[in-house]
Amino acid sequence: MPGVLVVMEQQRGAWNRMSFETLAAAQLLAAQTSQTASAAVVGQAGELASKKLDRIYTIEHPLLASYTADGFTAALQQLIRKTNPSVVLFPHTYQVRDFAPKLATRFQQVLISDAIGFRVESGAPIFVRQLFQGKLNADVKPGGPPPHFASIQAGAFRSDQAEAGTAQIETFTPELTADIIRAKPLEPFRESARAVDLTAADLIVSVGRGIKEKDNIPVVEELAKALGAELAASRPICDNGWLPMERQVGSSGQTVSPKMYLAVGISGAIQHLVGMKGAKTIVAINKDPNAPIFEVADYGIVGDLFEVVPALTEEVKKAKG
Ligand SMILES: Cc1cc2nc3c(=O)[nH]c(=O)nc-3n(C[C@H](O)[C@H](O)[C@H](O)COP(=O)(O)OP(=O)(O)OC[C@H]3O[C@@H](n4cnc5c(N)ncnc54)[C@H](O)[C@@H]3O)c2cc1C
Repeated sequence: MPGVLVVMEQQRGAWNRMSFETLAAAQLLAAQTSQTASAAVVGQAGELASKKLDRIYTIEHPLLASYTADGFTAALQQLIRKTNPSVVLFPHTYQVRDFAPKLATRFQQVLISDAIGFRVESGAPIFVRQLFQGKLNADVKPGGPPPHFASIQAGAFRSDQAEAGTAQIETFTPELTADIIRAKPLEPFRESARAVDLTAADLIVSVGRGIKEKDNIPVVEELAKALGAELAASRPICDNGWLPMERQVGSSGQTVSPKMYLAVGISGAIQHLVGMKGAKTIVAINKDPNAPIFEVADYGIVGDLFEVVPALTEEVKKAKG
């Protein structure tokens, strides 16, 4: 019976947590299409073994020790040919953007990228993608014979909704030779000391132009520190060089899905919203009661951030003792 295969991502033993969001999507799609869900990972099964899956394929080969698009594509191509899934889902990570379109092409297919959801019609999925910075949603129906390939946007599904259960683990060793791998991997970019992976943060305090000048950044930095949160920003803050570009959230920055996103002095432009609307809880502090950020906020404080934020920082510090 064809099934849904989710390709999980692990780097040096650490999961990319978007993988578990995509796992939840795969389980849901499998349930709605009366199929089984299986998972594949280049690495170890780890906590995946406690999820409800038909199989877990752990892909092992010395030539996959470092990521390369050629190696991952060849390995997954062989696994897909062997297991014959109807749909292959990926988390929309940087790595997936690199190799998954090439993998789909090997099956005369395309990757339906960055989907925010799906619905099932006549037993087949129709994926939803955003266009024009989130102003329009488009339905994308996979065409041609399966397998079909789609990647899932960060925050579109919730990792805590991945169903627990049991899974049978199977090792898959692809046939790979060194001559097919054309790239020579260097140290991963994210390993550099200053790099920040906001996509993995549970708590984010994000600052916008309401902060007025660079010298005021410590006001929000203090709050982030007290909460144990990562500091992020809207684009003007990074364009001005007040915080590094790697802390920008939005359509031209990172897409984040923390448990809590606290937006301070951010108006809520669509280009910002597309990067953070997947947060579980959104809190906004803004002096303008009509700011669009309040339309997506679960909790809102209408007030001057220079009064609200220091008071909040004090209370957090007190509460944490
Ligand atoms: C192609 C393109 C890509 C873009 N990509 C991104 C992106 O990735 N990320 C991004 O963020 N933007 C992006 N933008 C820019 C986006 O359109 C907005 O201009 C930007 O998000 C606005 O940032 P902001 O909310 O910090 O500033 P503003 O829109 O100026 O909002 C400042 C807010 O602070 C409030 N405020 C002011 N003073 C105080 C105070 N004392 N106390 C409390 N509140 C106060 C105001 O009421 C206002 O709502 C992009 C734009 C384009 C065209």
